[in-house]
Amino acid sequence: MSGFLAVGLSNSNLMGQSNHSASASGPKRIAIVGSTGTIGVNCLDVAAHLPERLQVAGISGHSNTRLLKEQAEKHRPDWVAVTDVVAAAGLKQGDLPSGCELVVGQDALARKVAGPGHELVVSAIVGAAGLDSTWAALEAGKDVAVANKETLVLAGALVLDLAKRRNAKLLPVDSEHSALFQLLQEPGALGRVEKLVLTGSGGPFRGRKRCELAEVTVEQALAHPTWRMGKKITIDSATLMNKALELIEARWLFDMPVNRLDAIIHPESVIHSFVEFVDGSVVAQASPPDMRLPIQYALTWPDRVWGPTRRLDWRALSKWTFEQPDREAFPALDLGLAVAQAGGTAGAVLNAANEVAVERFLAGSLKFLDITQLVVEVVGAHTHDASPALNDLRRADGWARKEAVLWQNNQTTMAN
Ligand code: NAD
Ligand code: MG
Repeated sequence: MSGFLAVGLSNSNLMGQSNHSASASGPKRIAIVGSTGTIGVNCLDVAAHLPERLQVAGISGHSNTRLLKEQAEKHRPDWVAVTDVVAAAGLKQGDLPSGCELVVGQDALARKVAGPGHELVVSAIVGAAGLDSTWAALEAGKDVAVANKETLVLAGALVLDLAKRRNAKLLPVDSEHSALFQLLQEPGALGRVEKLVLTGSGGPFRGRKRCELAEVTVEQALAHPTWRMGKKITIDSATLMNKALELIEARWLFDMPVNRLDAIIHPESVIHSFVEFVDGSVVAQASPPDMRLPIQYALTWPDRVWGPTRRLDWRALSKWTFEQPDREAFPALDLGLAVAQAGGTAGAVLNAANEVAVERFLAGSLKFLDITQLVVEVVGAHTHDASPALNDLRRADGWARKEAVLWQNNQTTMAN
């Protein structure tokens, strides 16, 4: 259970000396990387509702300079980073409030994240692009509230190890992992787990057979029934690759053997996960599908305070339903479990291939069922390294991206 020590759960010392409550030293200072995304915007909303608890020290966005300017005016951070050097032309130092520094590029962001002025970093960049800032934050000993699941899929073992070595806490933001984190707060709880069961809405194509998925459109795949999210995770939810990524994420965050992980479909997205304990008791965490709760919990942990999250309407509540995932229509789920079991370079390859496939699907050049097919084939073709260093993972990521493009080009040639 060593990995979870880094998360802070079973470490009574960390729990006892929380720096998360409003104290004489003032609000907790946070930097949000990916502040222009769905998670970033929700995080800023939580911070705006809890000014005595949270103060925004820095923000970053890739290309939406107009929104970054608005966010800087409202939240008055010390710095704003634009990571896309071309888009950065859209924002000048003079556009920002006085005292707010503008920096440009990925390296500048990593330096800011590792620098003074904040104690916690919210990792809300999408994809493997979030690895460097998460790594820089942990290396500098900052706590990280991690939404960017791809970084854990890519390099979970090394990220957890780094957090442990630097005595930094990793606080889950993904709703399922936040639910598990909330359910496992009792000292020693992790050692009494029989199973961690992640729930998933089933996405927009729940109930469809495999043969009914061949011609689905981008627009249909983006119409998620319960969550409003960025495009990449919305497509991942439609293929159930999101659940696969989350099973791998849980494997690392909770240092859990794969045979103790499972997933179940729960279309209402109100129960965010279950823990089954060794005595047969099953405990669930429920709240409306609103990311502000898991974000807030990560930022105020171990405290709970009033916040802006929507409430369950007990008078309107009638039933919560569950069903087994259709593993034939959505083979990503079993692929995720196999990759979680394999460890090593497998996660990096799965993640990179999936990023390319989703990009191609969104661009209209790959069919829906080919997203998972491409990932299966790239994962199957790779030479597995069981204990890679960070550079090996970066190489595996690069190899998988090239391989994914080749696979897709071959498909296109065969079709013509
Ligand atoms: P999004 O697409 O809405 O936002 C992504 C953010 O990353 C933006 O701020 C964008 O500017 C930034 N970004 C994109 N490419 C970048 C690059 N190359 N370099 C630096 N920054 C870059 O995505 P989102 O829905 O907010 O998701 C963010 C992360 O949180 C993802 O890993 C996702 O899986 C995870 N997550 C999201 C939700 C949700 O409800 N949206 C829930 C759980 C987990
Ligand atoms: Mg989730």
